[in-house]
Amino acid sequence: MAEDVPTGSDPFPNSISGVTNKASWKHRSPYKIQSDEEFGPVKWVGRCQCGQIEYKLNREKPLKSKYCHCRGCQVLHGAPFQWATIFHKPDITFTKGADGLAFYSSTEKSREYMNPTKVSCSFCHTPIMDEGRNVCLLFPAAIDYGSTEQEREKWIRAFEVECHIFYSCRAVEIPDRKPKWSGLDDRSELLDDSGNPKKT
Ligand SMILES: [Zn+2]
Ligand SMILES: [Zn+2]
Repeated sequence: MAEDVPTGSDPFPNSISGVTNKASWKHRSPYKIQSDEEFGPVKWVGRCQCGQIEYKLNREKPLKSKYCHCRGCQVLHGAPFQWATIFHKPDITFTKGADGLAFYSSTEKSREYMNPTKVSCSFCHTPIMDEGRNVCLLFPAAIDYGSTEQEREKWIRAFEVECHIFYSCRAVEIPDRKPKWSGLDDRSELLDDSGNPKKT
């Protein structure tokens, strides 16, 4: 599993000095500072509830959007299910508060930075994203959609989910006719809106 995770030797795991191995995350996407030219046109801006963390996206539509009904997401998000969208790491950059991020590895039960990790605001604890090895699972609920009805609809369309995963753990039924997987997408059984195995 955790391939590049040294243990117990670094006294400043989240140091901003950049001299330690574990601090090297600051120099990689999505955490490294990028110039506006380097990053390109901004398509979306997201922020945590307290405003300490702010990020921008240079991609209009995520690679994929899903609702995850698994137990881990229910507990960690305090919600019946989690709304997640997948982005390449270089699609995201923090414009405010990259030093104010908190990390949590649910497998290691550790708050030291490691990969994969769950990223939230260290002050208000708004969940920002799950950083995986190759992509980030960003939570579009924190993305700003402006103030008009048209802007809100654009946001809904951009992040509309393709499917539900871990629907067998659902707290609520969603009759939206989207594909519903009992576990992971493409690697589990397809269920109908009521959670019964889908007849093919
Ligand atoms: Zn915050
Ligand atoms: Zn989940």
